[in-house]
Amino acid sequence: MTDLHLDGISKSFGGVTALRDVNLDVEDGEFFTLVGPSGCGKTTTLRAVAGFESPDEGAVRFGDRGMAGVPPEDRDVGVVFQNYALFAHMTVGENVAYGLRFRGTPGDQSKEARVADLLDLVDLAGFEERDPDALSGGQRQRVALARALAPGPDVLLLDEPMSALDARLRKDLRTQVKRIQSELGITTVYVTHDQEEALAVSDRVAVMHDGRVEQVGRPEDVYRRPETRFVAEFLGENNVFAGEVDGEAVRVGERSFRLGDLGASDDRDAPDGSTVTFCVRPEHLARDPVENVVEAAVEAVEFLGESFRVHLDWQGQRLTLRADERPTAERLTVGFDPEDAHVVSVGERAQAVADRRRVDD
Ligand code: ATP
Repeated sequence: MTDLHLDGISKSFGGVTALRDVNLDVEDGEFFTLVGPSGCGKTTTLRAVAGFESPDEGAVRFGDRGMAGVPPEDRDVGVVFQNYALFAHMTVGENVAYGLRFRGTPGDQSKEARVADLLDLVDLAGFEERDPDALSGGQRQRVALARALAPGPDVLLLDEPMSALDARLRKDLRTQVKRIQSELGITTVYVTHDQEEALAVSDRVAVMHDGRVEQVGRPEDVYRRPETRFVAEFLGENNVFAGEVDGEAVRVGERSFRLGDLGASDDRDAPDGSTVTFCVRPEHLARDPVENVVEAAVEAVEFLGESFRVHLDWQGQRLTLRADERPTAERLTVGFDPEDAHVVSVGERAQAVADRRRVDD
């Protein structure tokens, strides 16, 4: 087993910059997820770890071993891609055994016993003689996982392995992947654009955006304390407000809000007029508020099963609320506890504000 490090990785393809100074440290045995929208650089990062891409700048290390010039087959990595890359002309057993072609069987196990063990691990015991064509999408991905794990790699790399599966299968498979990963204790880097999946399975996540890592942390920490507006809006739903410091409060349009976070940092460098971005999760917008109250128009209501998602319009800003019951009124009074607002950023006195004041004067 091994820990994994990316030290200042940058990579361009022609005129396209895919990665900009990516630094990541993945601990031994950790389930680490790269999450972000399409094109943010997740796959390129994974390919750099696997050795399919060499970075323009920076280094990949497994433990203290530098990986520059080490080809993929010498890196001790198992890789599962999004499209089931199984060989159609081979049986399931032969596909898994193919994973042993470079390294052979770990320990003194026979090839057959190793294949049987791995199929058992992915809940496909006895499937050796099946053709890949005779498997469901989820089963094929489990065979691909067994093949990647066959040689006993140090690191498992999973690139959107569930993206071709329907929602129900995805949930089943992610639970299974997580179980197998913890059972083996294998260092795993998982790529997904699905934020719910990332939060559900990972020990830690790295949120990527435009070739950069925006934030790294445990799912609950990144969800509760996003450090950038992008992270606040990408991970789960959020109500993001942009305002200005006004004495003890933050002014958004005509309305003043009191925020716990802001009050706590009295020594902050945020004079009146500084820009503030803060967010309030839909589950923290309350229907019977005592503070930070606004009245908003109901735009649409969606039934989610366990609750309702209510889309609101407040002064042209879209807000989202979670409700136990379907609201019947056209307008709702909502608000939030100052402690439930999370300040994402407090800017210096914004140039835009200064400019506007000059125009106003
Ligand atoms: P997706 O979720 O859509 O797979 P991603 O986050 O994995 O996206 P990458 O595939 O790493 O993103 O791509 C990052 C950027 O680099 C994109 O703009 C992509 O078009 C570009 N890119 C990646 N590989 C190549 C390549 N071989 N040649 C040219 N451009 C590339």
